Amino acid sequence: MIPFNKPYLTGREFAYMEEAVRAKRLSGNGRFTERCQQWLQQRIGAPRVLLTQSCTAAIEMAALLADLQPGDEVIMPSFTFVSTANAFVLRGARPVFVDVRPDTLNIDAQLIEAAITSRTRAIVPVHYAGVGCDMEAIVDIARRHDLIVIEDAAQALGSSLNGRPLGSFGALAALSFHETKNVMSGEGGALLINDERFIARAEILWEKGTDRVRFHRGEVSRYTWVDVGSSYLPSEITAAFLWAQLESADEITAGRLASWNAYYAGSADLPFLRRPVVPPTCVHNAHMFYLLVPPSLDRADLLATLNARGVNAVSHYVPLHSAPAGVRFGRVASTMPVTDDCSARLVRLPLWMGMDARVHQTVLDTLHEVVAAQAL
Ligand SMILES: *Cc1c(COP(=O)(O)O)cnc(C)c1O
Repeated sequence: MIPFNKPYLTGREFAYMEEAVRAKRLSGNGRFTERCQQWLQQRIGAPRVLLTQSCTAAIEMAALLADLQPGDEVIMPSFTFVSTANAFVLRGARPVFVDVRPDTLNIDAQLIEAAITSRTRAIVPVHYAGVGCDMEAIVDIARRHDLIVIEDAAQALGSSLNGRPLGSFGALAALSFHETKNVMSGEGGALLINDERFIARAEILWEKGTDRVRFHRGEVSRYTWVDVGSSYLPSEITAAFLWAQLESADEITAGRLASWNAYYAGSADLPFLRRPVVPPTCVHNAHMFYLLVPPSLDRADLLATLNARGVNAVSHYVPLHSAPAGVRFGRVASTMPVTDDCSARLVRLPLWMGMDARVHQTVLDTLHEVVAAQAL
């Protein structure tokens, strides 16, 4: 079986974890955490980055920083992972779902203004497959309506829009280092703080509502409980693992891109399968390669046949607006033709760092055979 995902190891993870263990400093906010945060700050150009235990945790911190009140509304796509919405639902806020664009499958910026009410507080664009949303339009809408932009950049480390890294556009942004993402630490994430107004409070939320980060810097002589908060920081063992991966981030992106390009070229002769669209303003990180199957082909059958023949292709995203919790907690601000259509037709192909040309070719050959058999 060609697996859908295969976690890549650089080979340095054990050495760095051993270094952290030998230093006998295993709780969070130590040397490896500091190194990872500095690296991300430089890469994204964010004035402050805090590692978190997951992207979910980073979005939860963003929801706390946005100071949402019960009944406040947050605009986001329905075509996304549950954490985009759940982090706000935990604060009593209501996700307001908007349809996505047919080309990038990112939130349709033209539908956002119609979704704004007096209760709207934030917009959460999700950079699907590491391809940038229309951030210029989204930031402009947010500015005019005094809303906070929180980027769900879970899939977007290493991607850019007009030369600027994704994750640098919103006041806040969240990255994921989950095992299925390009750069990973099993579970892991980061909060990117671009608006400096949020830095001081973010440091407190991160460390259980205390001013321990200031204590750590020698700014106060003891630390105490000063605000709400939780335990959002990962241990040094996780940060040590992540550091090994971040050091190879460019190599990982390049490796994935080679597979992505092979799939893109190798599926060009199947024009009824719609390939990913990457606008010329976007540089992407090859997080995902997907195809949209035409209505004339039965996706369930196609996936079952690919899997039976050893290619672990998968579908993606039950739209949040039609999920039980989405119906209960959310609101739909537009009709959802594109979301409903693409979630019913999308097929993701296996993609990981270190996949060799023989594997691409097997996936492509199997795809061609299965499609040809179905089309008969
Ligand atoms: C993976 C992902 C998340 C969640 O990341 P975790 O690190 O697993 O919490 C959130 N949003 C999107 C769009 C994702 O792809």
